[in-house]
Amino acid sequence: MSRATRKQAAQAAPPPERAFPPGVGNLRLGNGELARAGAVASRVAPAHRYVVITDQTVGALHLAKLSSGFGDSPLTIVIPPGEGEKNRARWAEITDRMLDAGCGRDTTVLALGGGVIGDLAGFVAATYMRGVPLVQVPTTLLAMVDASVGGKTAVDVPAGKNLVGAFHPAAAVVADPEVLQTLPVRHARSGVAEMLKHGAIADPGHFAAVREAAGPLAARAPDEPAGAAMLGLSELIGDSIAIKSAVVAEDPLETGRRRILNFGHTVAHALESASNFTLLHGEAVAIGMVLEARIAEVMGIARAGTAELIGEALRSVGLPSRLADAGLSQGISSVELRRWMGSDKKNQDGAIRFALPKALGSMEEGDGRWSVSVPESVIDEVLEKI
Ligand code: NAD
Repeated sequence: MSRATRKQAAQAAPPPERAFPPGVGNLRLGNGELARAGAVASRVAPAHRYVVITDQTVGALHLAKLSSGFGDSPLTIVIPPGEGEKNRARWAEITDRMLDAGCGRDTTVLALGGGVIGDLAGFVAATYMRGVPLVQVPTTLLAMVDASVGGKTAVDVPAGKNLVGAFHPAAAVVADPEVLQTLPVRHARSGVAEMLKHGAIADPGHFAAVREAAGPLAARAPDEPAGAAMLGLSELIGDSIAIKSAVVAEDPLETGRRRILNFGHTVAHALESASNFTLLHGEAVAIGMVLEARIAEVMGIARAGTAELIGEALRSVGLPSRLADAGLSQGISSVELRRWMGSDKKNQDGAIRFALPKALGSMEEGDGRWSVSVPESVIDEVLEKI
């Protein structure tokens, strides 16, 4: 099917119901699902009180439609947008608000927003009264294909990102691609980076399809709403969720193969911290995938040219593939990056570990740990070239 025909088909009808692997909660994906999220919550996680946690931007755009799906208005907690809000102080403030409102154990939390809200509200749900049900209603592409699937919740602390958190899988994920039309192009591309990652780790066909469908985002201004371009991605969003959820279902607590989802992320987390979060998560993952693929090539693990294939695809959808593309090459030293990598959760026994590709669509199993300890000299060799 050509891109134009696929886009027309996606606009004409919501994607059909799809079966996703068991073990990752109920997943509802389709245009118009936002208005049905309340009904889904009362079916999969019936509660005396429903609490919707969102941010000001998403609240202004999409809260009314979500609220229309509830009989009685849910308690709504609205916080400012941005990564800087995903912290222990906000967690304390939100849980205090819920205690003040008399929310008991029979409460269900709905996270309406991007990955920041998903992680923060998820951590609230994981810890409130020792854990209450969570329904994820992702509104960014990144949250739909990645953050809302798989049960990881967390807040950031001064020592690094996501260092205090819990596994707390959602009772349901309700993803409505229509909400993505208001998403700024820069954030849409950030989600595309994670979709390309799903292709890079498991399915070269998906990699090529995402690259083609997201091509129109390349020439657009970063701050304008992504608009109808996002509707053409609906089917591929389902494919990305299927790839991620299959990996998660096999290894929910990340003791083995789930680590392949971390491809690009050891470098990405260091870049996000070192750039003081001026880089978006997906932008950092984009640069991280290229550098980690290069590390894999230097170590003789990846087929030569893998990093360049990934870099070309990223550039073709308007994502950075090098620090210079993101305007950061001056401010960040390789020593600083390696220091941030040293505090990554994926490290074991003091060594810096990476999930590394063998080729597009295939990851290195290592000794069954699906991550590889990389000598500092190799990390320095690759980092110094950037
Ligand atoms: P985000 O949550 O900060 O959202 C990006 C911006 O877009 C925000 O300003 C938000 O207000 C706005 N926004 C959201 N939806 C919108 C919409 N439909 N229309 C207009 N504006 C909208 O960023 P993100 O990229 O979604 O998430 C990044 C976070 O996700 C990071 O904290 C990262 O660590 C986390 N994450 C978690 C997991 C996981 O498995 N738990 C996986 C990947 C990323």
